[in-house]
Amino acid sequence: MIVSQQKPIDEILKMLEGEKTVFVVGCNGCAEVCETGGEKACVELKQKLEASGIKVVGCTTVDFMCNKLLDSLKILRHKEKIDFADSIIALTCGVGVQAVSSVIDKYVHPANNTIYLGGFQGTWPSQERCAECGECVLDLTGGICPITNCSKSLLNGSCGGAKNGKCEIDKELDCGWEKIYNRLKKLNKLENLQKFTKLRDYSKMFPKTELRKSMFYDVEQEK
Ligand code: SF4
Ligand code: SF4
Repeated sequence: MIVSQQKPIDEILKMLEGEKTVFVVGCNGCAEVCETGGEKACVELKQKLEASGIKVVGCTTVDFMCNKLLDSLKILRHKEKIDFADSIIALTCGVGVQAVSSVIDKYVHPANNTIYLGGFQGTWPSQERCAECGECVLDLTGGICPITNCSKSLLNGSCGGAKNGKCEIDKELDCGWEKIYNRLKKLNKLENLQKFTKLRDYSKMFPKTELRKSMFYDVEQEK
């Protein structure tokens, strides 16, 4: 299972700066178990956004947002409303945000941070990967993770070594930063490249003691 925690509402509102309308999508898989996805979390976020003057034009949930086929089937049913929205906000893990971003030409903001639990992580059928860094930056990179798509996990742009779109470290790989550039260009968000990612606090990769207890405590009690 992939563990996630919702970003503070102030951070979510900052991501939505300049936008008036959003469409909310929540994952019914791991994120629902963590109470960071599913219908309840969607409704709660909708209320907070509307209290802050952001109009929520629609909400839906997908059983496993890491599955692009399910995303396409479920989310694209709401295409008319999504077309009307400035962006999508996704209550899911980093893989889910990347999967949704890859099936729709609309900016997708991550509502959650994905964190490491050191255990079984689950499987998913596509190429998107999340390193559970605890401080998701997909909002700046158009839904392509720089940590898992760049061989050097660079956060502030390309190393300049790519040739013909291929990574200098591994010629089989597309350069993650070229992919990010192309996605941002397509979505008219190239200005994101001028926003610097702040130094990372890697302690955020690890869940707090209380969260570890709440996830395993009940199981231990039932033995
Ligand atoms: S930035 Fe990448 S590694 Fe970090 S939470 Fe987001 S998808 Fe996962
Ligand atoms: S060539 Fe691209 S993917 Fe490879 S290390 Fe440099 S920036 Fe990262």
